[in-house]
Amino acid sequence: MTNTTGNLSTYVNNSMLNKIVVGNGSQIHTLGTGHTTLKPPYPPLKLQNILVAPNLIKNLLSIRRLTTDNLVAIEFDPFGFLVKDFRTKIPILRCDNTGDLYPLSLPSTRFTSPSTFVALSQDIWHHRLGHPGSSLLRVLNKQKSISVSKFSDKRLCQSCVFGKQVKLPFHDSLSNTSLPFDIVHSDGWTSPVLSTGGHRYYILFLDDYTNFLWTYPLSNKSNVFRAFSIFQTLIKTQFERPIKTFQCDNGTEYNNQSFHNFCTENGLVFRFSCPYTSAQNGKAERKIRSINNIVRTLLTHASLPPSFWHHALSMATYILNILPSKTKNNLTPTRLLYHLHPTYTHLRTFGCLCYPLLPSTSIHKLANRSSPCVFLGYPSNHKGYKCYDLSSHKIIISRHAEFDENIFPFAKNTNPAPSYEFLHSNLSSDPHSSIWTSVQTPDPLSTASPPNHPPTQPIHRPPHLLLLLQI
Ligand SMILES: [Zn+2]
Repeated sequence: MTNTTGNLSTYVNNSMLNKIVVGNGSQIHTLGTGHTTLKPPYPPLKLQNILVAPNLIKNLLSIRRLTTDNLVAIEFDPFGFLVKDFRTKIPILRCDNTGDLYPLSLPSTRFTSPSTFVALSQDIWHHRLGHPGSSLLRVLNKQKSISVSKFSDKRLCQSCVFGKQVKLPFHDSLSNTSLPFDIVHSDGWTSPVLSTGGHRYYILFLDDYTNFLWTYPLSNKSNVFRAFSIFQTLIKTQFERPIKTFQCDNGTEYNNQSFHNFCTENGLVFRFSCPYTSAQNGKAERKIRSINNIVRTLLTHASLPPSFWHHALSMATYILNILPSKTKNNLTPTRLLYHLHPTYTHLRTFGCLCYPLLPSTSIHKLANRSSPCVFLGYPSNHKGYKCYDLSSHKIIISRHAEFDENIFPFAKNTNPAPSYEFLHSNLSSDPHSSIWTSVQTPDPLSTASPPNHPPTQPIHRPPHLLLLLQI
């Protein structure tokens, strides 16, 4: 129930006045009914058949209606309540109480950061989002996730021309999964170039249902099982769901005793593509090509050394999880997995000049509060920016930074221009590759490990609309 039609997206006025009885026994009039949906950054929960009663002091929410209309469960605790997807048990929304009531504050149109509505050029969004085609930018613009000042189909991006040499065919999804982690696809890629972090390899895990992607750079293929163990623990802890089927190729990094034992002990179906028919693992292989296309384009655009590929990998993973998926009705993997709309206002162009604001405790009082850096992405364990200090050659993590997205510091120093041909090399699914060796110390997974939070900005809860339990 609500006291104003302003909260509704559709409204039907009833000609006859109806009355409802409220808590103290008195009666108040209702004028009509309407519907609405929670707006970003909240999950798009439906609120249907809302009664409009102008004399109502507080807006009230029927828990029964909310749970049945949206197939969600609600858990109350002393500090508030948690809304969970009924089937997956994945938390969708958390609300803390402020007294004896359970308020749910909805964002108004005034809530969203003003920068959301600052229209930026198509080029800026193209660069920030890893050089997607204009059709994807149009989808995001239509969804009001970003605001593009003017669209043009005639623009030419040199980095795309050099970076995306492989045109990927569009494939319909053959998946028939109905829940996250019913099937997880996996594949790996060997880099001929050693990364500055000491990586020669990366492995990906792709959830079939949501298209959400995790990548781990590794120093050695023999660390694949260790990365898988870390990944499956993450899924179990964060989503309280087991992986049911694991689909991979027949390479020795997967087809070995450690994997077989783990799957048998945990009831996990282990599905291999047949030798030399890697098309059966096509979804993961196509994803590797997509990732490498973005990695190559990001490095090209910023003129970064090829050995920075693991930073571009982390960035590509982040971006792919917030871009709409054509095979998922243009919903993003983040929306499908976390039930949250990703935010885009904090995005910046990979490899550009930036000045992170250094904490005053870390530097001499008279020293500069910042030094020129190169922006290398978003850290997995912090909200903020990963910045490469050009003088100390160290990575600085900062919540606050100034950016110049037209200057790319490495572009000045690279003559001749670096080659990124290594990213065209074949996929690593070599059945004759190295024999399984004992698991080594895990790689530092800090560069492209999955975020322990969805790629969204923190949720603010202004006291706009109070929803309480209907008695
Ligand atoms: Zn481009």
